[in-house]
Amino acid sequence: MVWTWSGPGGLDQVCTRLWTRSGASLRSGPGLRWSGPGLELVLGLDQVLDGLDQMSNYKRATLEDEDGSDALPEPLPSPGVDPDLDQVEVGFRKAGPGLLGRRTRLEVLLGILLLLSVLALFICVLLLGLGLGPERRSVCLTQACVSVAAQIVEALDRTVDPCQDFYQFSCGGWIRRNPLPDGRSRWSTFNSIWEQNQALLKHLLENRTFPGNSSGGSEAEKKTQAYYLSCLNSAKIDELGATPLIQLINKVGGWNISGSWEKENFMEVLKVVSGPLRAQPFFSVSVSTDPKSSNSNVIQVDQSGLFLPSRDYYLNKTANEKTLAPAVDWLDLLTFTLSPLDLNDTEPVVLYAKEYLQQVSDLINKTHKSLLNNYMIWTLVQKSVTSLDQRFENAQDKLLESLYGTKKSCTPRWQTCIGYTDDTLGFALGALFVKATFDKHSKGIAEEMINEIRTAFKQGLDQLHWMDPETKQNAKEKADSIYDMIGFPEFILDPKELDDVYDGYDVSEDSFFQNMLNFYNFSSRVMADQLRKSPNKDQWSMTPPTVNAYYMPTKNGIVFPAGILQAPFYAHDHPKALNFGGIGVVMGHELTHAFDDQGREYDKEGNLRPWWQNGSVAAFAERSRCMELQYQNYSENGENVNGKQTLGENMADNGGLKAAYRAYRSWVQRHGEEKLLPAVNLTNDQLFFVGFAQVWCSVHTSESAHEGLVTDPHSPPRFRVVGTLANSPDFSRHFQCPLGSPMNPGERCEVW
Ligand SMILES: [Zn+2]
Repeated sequence: MVWTWSGPGGLDQVCTRLWTRSGASLRSGPGLRWSGPGLELVLGLDQVLDGLDQMSNYKRATLEDEDGSDALPEPLPSPGVDPDLDQVEVGFRKAGPGLLGRRTRLEVLLGILLLLSVLALFICVLLLGLGLGPERRSVCLTQACVSVAAQIVEALDRTVDPCQDFYQFSCGGWIRRNPLPDGRSRWSTFNSIWEQNQALLKHLLENRTFPGNSSGGSEAEKKTQAYYLSCLNSAKIDELGATPLIQLINKVGGWNISGSWEKENFMEVLKVVSGPLRAQPFFSVSVSTDPKSSNSNVIQVDQSGLFLPSRDYYLNKTANEKTLAPAVDWLDLLTFTLSPLDLNDTEPVVLYAKEYLQQVSDLINKTHKSLLNNYMIWTLVQKSVTSLDQRFENAQDKLLESLYGTKKSCTPRWQTCIGYTDDTLGFALGALFVKATFDKHSKGIAEEMINEIRTAFKQGLDQLHWMDPETKQNAKEKADSIYDMIGFPEFILDPKELDDVYDGYDVSEDSFFQNMLNFYNFSSRVMADQLRKSPNKDQWSMTPPTVNAYYMPTKNGIVFPAGILQAPFYAHDHPKALNFGGIGVVMGHELTHAFDDQGREYDKEGNLRPWWQNGSVAAFAERSRCMELQYQNYSENGENVNGKQTLGENMADNGGLKAAYRAYRSWVQRHGEEKLLPAVNLTNDQLFFVGFAQVWCSVHTSESAHEGLVTDPHSPPRFRVVGTLANSPDFSRHFQCPLGSPMNPGERCEVW
């Protein structure tokens, strides 16, 4: 093996800078995704971090009533048929022909008076239209406007001064109306959209006329239904009990906890457990884009988690031995894992955590064989819990409660199963989803919006004084090269292509456990298949129903799955102020990741390579420090935000808001001011900021808050709002926040 490594804190987390974990956290079922092996690592970690949240169950009382149709986007407006828009009636009938014909003087006089009043009325309407004061501008009374206005008003807490605490002002009402659902450790807009998506998918998968069975349906779509039904079949799962797991353990050589075990087979067990079974007891192995040569794939090895969310939960000390992991026969392990590929000693391997690996090797050498066996098989058992009967999940409940503060699980089984189906066959499931809900016009609209945000971002670059002209020029070129993927990958709508993707993955309705095993095996073969191929630019690592978005540094691309292109992020009939404050900020956020503390190290082709002048690197570091200290000062339950850990996300939030607001203003300049929303009593500029803030309305347990502070690269939702807006002069101006108030503290941090 030819090992190369990046320093500590290298790339491990950068592959998917998730917009939020809350969306993704719902999704970690069996925990593997065939696509984007590079992301597997991150998703794997994510599973370690979030899987518990998912496994603990939850329920939303109204869900059964909602029906999947709620998730259907409304069609685009046809020109000229909007019934209740723009019609200004002036309250009198049309006169017949010859208005001044055979009339008396009085009639003529009255006629003149009438004309004058019409003229006066016309002038009034004109003045109102020009916007003399927000409250007098014309108001949008379409159904969509009225209904979204009602939602906004309900979420607000007007007893709070927006300049004191804008999060509480924007979300206080929402928080009062949304107690944490049973079994959940956090609850937010993201969760509720995902639940709507789940409900739609349930409807499709359980429908007697399952769309996958119709002509033109694909085999892969049929697999989703079989997989889902196998998961739903609790009777069968109960009947099998622990048998499938015991059989698996015996096949791997036994476990000293459950019976006899083979003492001399450390390497053999490690190979099977981390190869075709895709567990990661000591480290992770994946195949993904080479960060220094983005046109090729390479084997990548990184540290893996244990089980608890972070090191702090263990408080263990580690040894410090300086040899490179001799406890593992790497060629043997990698050849087995990537079978049938032929590997030899010259195979390049990228290593992200050199010291970790050295220490883990030392630990393996010093630890008793029975303990190693116990641990390796335990990772397998832990991975299997979700496909076994309820007793296994119950056994985990106490741990979950102490970690996340959730009560005993109560998620409906179907909901859990939709999540697993999405994790396993997410692109086939995505085909059903987009055919049922995704408006094909959305792609074009989103693309146009991304370009508006990109332009705004570049205009922002022009106004930065800390960056030298040459680096600035390169940054603009990088922004121009950012590649976008919207909605879903095209291949999912072609039954043959979709079937090819899942070819070799056998699914049956009879055994959920076997479906899971087959999937691990299948995904390990897919991973091996990637190594000798060039990275596929169109490979997606989030499935279409996902309510999330991400930036890929090695592809310099941004991705917005269909799941997030819905209200409240985006709706064609909502005011632009809300769309720019919603999906616009998300777009700006992902785009800014290309320039955050980690993304900036990649060039426009996605290669890890220095492309900045030294002076600008220093100025960037200084500005980053400002933001680090700003967020470090925020605290929740007496525990401070980690400014370093959240730096990249905070930069993305700040840059995203700024670009989206600029893009909104430029839209207004081109199209004129929008009508106001009724009853909200906000100008449209204010509405933009409220729309942004309300995306982040959320509730959580204190355990979950602690876990987030320790592990999440994002700041807690409250500070994503407060921190970003306290840096925005536009915000302060529109809410007239006095200098020195909490939302306008006087000192601002600005990177992008
Ligand atoms: Zn992000």
